[in-house]
Amino acid sequence: MKKLLTDYLVVGSGAMGMAFADVLLSETDANIIIVDKHHQPGGHWNDAYPFVRLHQPSAFYGVNSRKLGSNEIDETGLNKGLYELATNGEVCSYFDQVMQRQFLPSGRVKYFPSCNYNGNGLFESLLSGAKYSVSFKKEVDSTYMDVLVPSQRPPPFEIESNAHCVPLNELPDISHRYDDFVIIGGGKTAIDAALFLLKNEVNPEQIRWIMPRDSWLLDRSQIQPTLDSIGKLFANRIIPGTESKDVDDFFGKISKAGGLLRIDENVKPTMYRCSTVTLAELEELKRIDKIVRKGRVKTISDNRIVLEQGSISSSLGTLHIDCAGDGLAKRPGTPIFKNKKITLQSVRTCQQVFSAALLGFVEATYQEDKKKNELCRPVPHPDSDIDFLKNTLADSLNRERWAKEPRLSKWLQTSRLNPESHVLKGSYRLKALSFLSKIPFLRLSNRVLETQKKANLNIKGLLNSLEAE
Ligand SMILES: Cc1cc2nc3c(=O)[nH]c(=O)nc-3n(C[C@H](O)[C@H](O)[C@H](O)COP(=O)(O)OP(=O)(O)OC[C@H]3O[C@@H](n4cnc5c(N)ncnc54)[C@H](O)[C@@H]3O)c2cc1C
Repeated sequence: MKKLLTDYLVVGSGAMGMAFADVLLSETDANIIIVDKHHQPGGHWNDAYPFVRLHQPSAFYGVNSRKLGSNEIDETGLNKGLYELATNGEVCSYFDQVMQRQFLPSGRVKYFPSCNYNGNGLFESLLSGAKYSVSFKKEVDSTYMDVLVPSQRPPPFEIESNAHCVPLNELPDISHRYDDFVIIGGGKTAIDAALFLLKNEVNPEQIRWIMPRDSWLLDRSQIQPTLDSIGKLFANRIIPGTESKDVDDFFGKISKAGGLLRIDENVKPTMYRCSTVTLAELEELKRIDKIVRKGRVKTISDNRIVLEQGSISSSLGTLHIDCAGDGLAKRPGTPIFKNKKITLQSVRTCQQVFSAALLGFVEATYQEDKKKNELCRPVPHPDSDIDFLKNTLADSLNRERWAKEPRLSKWLQTSRLNPESHVLKGSYRLKALSFLSKIPFLRLSNRVLETQKKANLNIKGLLNSLEAE
């Protein structure tokens, strides 16, 4: 057994572990050991389907200290006019460069890839079997969010006899011609599978889409690091949510304003998992008419698909594409800072890397766990439509807490992982607006805060009435 000593033992070199370690390196002089089962950094991006791209701009993904991509605007394709989205390969190569060109040369990081962590400071190499025991000041668990992509697990339904079913990782490799395709799942991976087929000129008539739940979707043009985008988000998602009779009215108003999108205007979504699309992608998806809403798949046989609420025909000429996994499970929030243990979680909805970096800054800056936990309330990954309300409120309350902390506010203004920092850096319009807002009769910033407060009050009321039911 080899003995090691470190300040921080980080379990996992996925995006969150890397983003956390990066801020610790910039803000402290701590030493870090990073252990991961994967052979290179990047976590689940190493296993994701080859045609996946970031679902948000590269401009605010990765680690804080290193740019990802070149902040270019796409000139072609379905993301035209919006900030570039890194490919799977780019994300893996980026994290490898962070490790090889920054972390290791700092002399403060020791990296143990292809090693399984067994808890209590013990890990072993999956290749050589070498065993290690680490004495640490703090253990950082970046595995709690439990990210899983379809290629990493068997399908969550039965496949009988000769039926053809593949995880979407295998889609680019199929050489056999199929008569038709069945996409299984209603989330972002299913959307990616549908767009992949359509891009490759599969006739929409040949596609059936099994959608156990319809989902509310986010418009990617409202998740850009620009003033226009932030303004649109406020106008389309926050202002319409300031007054509503009930939950249906709340979603009705936001969806009418374009703050939330859906594939079928006549179906009320019950799912929300932060999936993003562009309006052009949504138009493409709407070309698929054959949407099956009969619950989850139970069994696929040679000629039938049995679902929770009925069955549909299938054949040996059909390719079933498994997109049914729960890539980002909803884990209950747990205290992030607890004595010697730090459990990385989101503190802003669906912004895992931003959250991990912020947690790194809080760890480096504040002393008491109580204070750190007050600043960093977990915002669990959403799953249902009601989670949209809960997370909007939780995000806003965390924002309020951070705004009261001068050191944290300053970090937020400069962190590239915070989309708003890009606006503050570059926009003369915003600087002019912020100057004008100091003039008492204008007070623009106060009006924004008042609107946000009104929206929070409305959401609280809606959540209370749901609880009372
Ligand atoms: C298809 C897809 C697209 C996405 N797009 C975006 C996006 O555009 N923007 C965004 O913000 N988020 C996106 N996400 C969310 C994404 O999951 C996070 O951004 C981030 O990559 C999660 O990183 P992580 O470190 O939490 O998890 P992981 O990447 O899963 O990293 C955890 C690491 O821990 C290691 N590990 C686990 N257990 C052990 C053990 N016992 N011993 C050693 N090592 C262990 C694993 O090997 C893994 O490398 C996407 C997710 C998916 C599935």
